[in-house]
Amino acid sequence: MSTTTSSKSLKGGEFVIKSTDPQSVFIPEEFSEEHRMMADMAHEFLVQHVYPHLDRIDALEPGLMASLLDKAGELGMLGVSIPEEYGGFGKDFLTGMLMTEVLGAGHSFSVAMAAHTGIGTLPILYFGTAQQKARYLPKLSTGEWKGSYCLTEPGSGSDALAAKTKAVLSADGKHYLLNGQKMWITNAGFADVFTVFAQVDGDKFTGFIVEKGYEGLSLGEEEHKMGIKGSSTRQVFFMDCKVPVENVLGEIGKGHLIAFNILNIGRAKLAVAALGGSKQVCTQSVDYANTRQQFKLPISKFGAIKHKLAEQAIRIFAMESAIYRVSNLIEQKEQELMAAGQPMEKALLGAAEEYAVECAILKVAGSEVLDFVVDEGVQIYGGYGYSADFPMDRAYRDSRINRIFEGTNEINRLLAVDMILKRAMKGELDLMGPAMAVQKELMAIPDFGNGESKLFEEENKAIANMKKALLMVAGTAVQKYMMTLAKEQEILMRIADMAIDIYMAESILLRVQKLTSLKGEGECALQMDMARVYLSDALDRLHISGKNAVNAMSEGDEQRMLLMGLRRFSKMAPVNTVEARRRVASKMITEGKYCF
Ligand SMILES: Cc1cc2nc3c(=O)[nH]c(=O)nc-3n(C[C@H](O)[C@H](O)[C@H](O)COP(=O)(O)OP(=O)(O)OC[C@H]3O[C@@H](n4cnc5c(N)ncnc54)[C@H](O)[C@@H]3O)c2cc1C
Repeated sequence: MSTTTSSKSLKGGEFVIKSTDPQSVFIPEEFSEEHRMMADMAHEFLVQHVYPHLDRIDALEPGLMASLLDKAGELGMLGVSIPEEYGGFGKDFLTGMLMTEVLGAGHSFSVAMAAHTGIGTLPILYFGTAQQKARYLPKLSTGEWKGSYCLTEPGSGSDALAAKTKAVLSADGKHYLLNGQKMWITNAGFADVFTVFAQVDGDKFTGFIVEKGYEGLSLGEEEHKMGIKGSSTRQVFFMDCKVPVENVLGEIGKGHLIAFNILNIGRAKLAVAALGGSKQVCTQSVDYANTRQQFKLPISKFGAIKHKLAEQAIRIFAMESAIYRVSNLIEQKEQELMAAGQPMEKALLGAAEEYAVECAILKVAGSEVLDFVVDEGVQIYGGYGYSADFPMDRAYRDSRINRIFEGTNEINRLLAVDMILKRAMKGELDLMGPAMAVQKELMAIPDFGNGESKLFEEENKAIANMKKALLMVAGTAVQKYMMTLAKEQEILMRIADMAIDIYMAESILLRVQKLTSLKGEGECALQMDMARVYLSDALDRLHISGKNAVNAMSEGDEQRMLLMGLRRFSKMAPVNTVEARRRVASKMITEGKYCF
């Protein structure tokens, strides 16, 4: 396995076999003044226009959500990522991600906004003809028209290509007639433009741009949901809905390219929105823990609560490190493709596709960190966490959807591993060489080191070892099951968990290494604590995931050797995680907020 690092960006999925130079990653501490101004504007928007009206929003007060989107449009917030020629601001990807993070703390508003600017707008930006872009994008970027995306049907969710909605060309060749039913459509209640997927002649999966006023389109009632109650979610019905042929989006039979490619960016955005929500809930948790007294003490004085606060922060910090690491990789790739002559929108699409593995990892990790953070938030609030009059109730319910949409977390786990293996089979990713090297290493006498290590040497070695464990387990699975591996989902899930733990642990470590080189060790003691705690726990999780997979696919000597390898590759010098978490929590308790 290569331990050499280069300052050149790694390709998508390459983190599995290569290490990264800490100096080459982007860390949130490097956001520019302009980035921060945009973030402040987004926060101010929530404070002024969203937070005072959360109950009205959740009651689906007629016209309210649409008017909030109008306001966001007036301030230019809907057009941040749309090129200037279509009335947007053409800002870089990192700016769009940072704004999505901040707005991610906006509950249902954040979902409506993300659906509009993401799946509601991007298919047209990426796949539309010049005429389609000219007609729709300026209005979508100001919010004059609101967007939505109709892929899911009652009978087809994860298996999206099994959609039954049909499109048949009219006798005069001027229209497609759409017939069918779409389910769970975000923003449907007020959307003006629907990107709809239907089977042309029964089997050619194709995208269409459908306007609200087209004859034959109608809406179901609002769904009664567990959370994000203020987000409009309805069925959309098509009965001989007449769609002009000019409104075919992309090519006939190539709708899957739109449906799947759009999701890569959607997944990264979902993760960063979850990050914003997590930070907000963490701050609320610290604040509450500082004010709530029991046994004559603020509950933040209790170790059990400190542990929770610190663990919220550590997972958030790791997730943030991974999200902006990937964002920067996407942005760099986008620049590279633009320099090679691609227009901005095509370049971003290609860049996100390159890092599709990482986007799937972010989606799973981000949504699960948010779920963890809100769950502990409820616990810190105790009985008040269970009261609809306190903020944790809404946060807890609103969080849960994130593991379901933009591809369920099961589908994303499967996808992440599948994409890595497919890239290896196509020769884009050399898994074989490093996997063989790991096998050889397993037969050799372990290197016990010389007892002394430089700063981060031990941690970097742990990350390299985690990758060896992954290669060992995944390599064994590939050899054992070959073409039937796809059926061994329990094993694939564990391999995905290993890859996720590696990516997150490596990302937090890279960030802290870079930060230390910028600010000095003394300034980064708490961040080092966070990285070490995360890494220590990630190694234990990796061991368990690996063990589950190994025990399912091997026995006898092979099993013993693999388990021994796993133990060897998930070892690190002991970390006093209790003390480290106490230090992290103390800082937050003093500051009264999430402060990293
Ligand atoms: C509030 C909300 C808003 C939404 N907004 C939109 C929208 O705007 N536009 C849109 O098109 N869709 C939208 N969706 C739909 C959403 O994307 C789907 O619900 C999601 O993709 C899952 O599909 P499903 O609900 O049919 O579940 P299913 O696909 O039936 O999955 C059920 C369970 O089985 C698992 N599963 C399914 N297939 C496999 C497999 N091959 N291997 C292992 N496990 C599997 C899933 O992970 C899940 O746990 C929304 C959904 C909700 C609830």
